[in-house]
Amino acid sequence: MSFAAFTIARLPQIKFGCGSLSKLPDIAASYGKRLLLVTGARSFLGSAHAPRLFAALRQRACRWEIVKIVAEPAPTFIDATVSALQGEAFDAVIGIGGGSALDAAKAIAGLLKPGNSVLDHLEGVGPELPYGGPSTPLIAVPSTAGTGSEATRNAVLSIHGQFKKSFRDEQLVAEWAIVDPDLLVTCPPQLIAADGMDAFTQLLESFVSTGSNPMTDALARSGIMAARDALLPLYAEQSAPAREKMAYASLLSGICLAQTGLGAVHGLASPLGAFFPIPHGAACGTLVATATAVNIAAMGRRDPENPALPKYAEIGRRFAMQKGLNARDARSFLVTSLRQWEEALALPRLSNWRITGADLPRIVANCRGSSMKTNPIVLTDEEITQILAARL
Ligand SMILES: [Zn+2]
Repeated sequence: MSFAAFTIARLPQIKFGCGSLSKLPDIAASYGKRLLLVTGARSFLGSAHAPRLFAALRQRACRWEIVKIVAEPAPTFIDATVSALQGEAFDAVIGIGGGSALDAAKAIAGLLKPGNSVLDHLEGVGPELPYGGPSTPLIAVPSTAGTGSEATRNAVLSIHGQFKKSFRDEQLVAEWAIVDPDLLVTCPPQLIAADGMDAFTQLLESFVSTGSNPMTDALARSGIMAARDALLPLYAEQSAPAREKMAYASLLSGICLAQTGLGAVHGLASPLGAFFPIPHGAACGTLVATATAVNIAAMGRRDPENPALPKYAEIGRRFAMQKGLNARDARSFLVTSLRQWEEALALPRLSNWRITGADLPRIVANCRGSSMKTNPIVLTDEEITQILAARL
């Protein structure tokens, strides 16, 4: 076996495991006593974990401010928060929550010291100035199993109706990711479904991405197996083993996507999320089966030697648990299994967000951003439209 050259970009230090949240106070205090906590408006602050964390921080003589995130973060929110906190000299930022809280924490940690507008750096918006730093150390604590934001270098920000774009830089990667599966206990089934499909999609798209390498393949494969075994069980009923597997799958999805880029589903999730109030995980979950089928068909027609084809077959065999299954049947097994997931997880169709056939040209016209560039084959506008039309 020969290896093409590859690069692994910076990763956070990672604490994974049930109860690992108890490590947060010491890790945070190691940066200093002045902390900024960025968290969702309800789940963490309303949980039994919050008073325990605050007591432990008090014991270490830490002081903190809290920023609450109520929706997907907008650039104006980031800028207003950063300017309100100017001159406070925080030693570290702690992000606890779902993807929105972690992305907001990442953007705020990036700009607290420089103090300029995040619009200076957003990809595809404004002047796209290089980010010079310095960032404030970030500790990311995910409370959902979905985005993998704790391991990535980008913060996704949006203005509804206009755009959903990334502020991206190596310096934005968290110093620490503390992944405690116990935090998933309060996650409602609908969020388990949508977030879990986001994690799975990120793993599958990383695995077949043109940016994949043997090291990310090993991680993606491991994450895919964990999601295969745990997503439906966790949706049906909370259990510690299923929570651990999904938290692990989500972490690996972030690690992989940060190295490899994603694919057609995430290419489409960007304009869908910008123009319609569709949660990111729901967009991924509703599209991944059809996008996989369209990718496979496109490669079969005009690129039969594409290395993603045997990879899809490998995952199909792992879903079927039949090592000897031929490639064609294995790929159809994968697509059929993902369609069954869509049904089992009750993932809504696009029309649920009032998306109609008339909207498709605008979505297709705005889908060729960064994720689409690492899809294993360049899809035509017709093929992309076909993915969306099948899920109206
Ligand atoms: Zn995603």
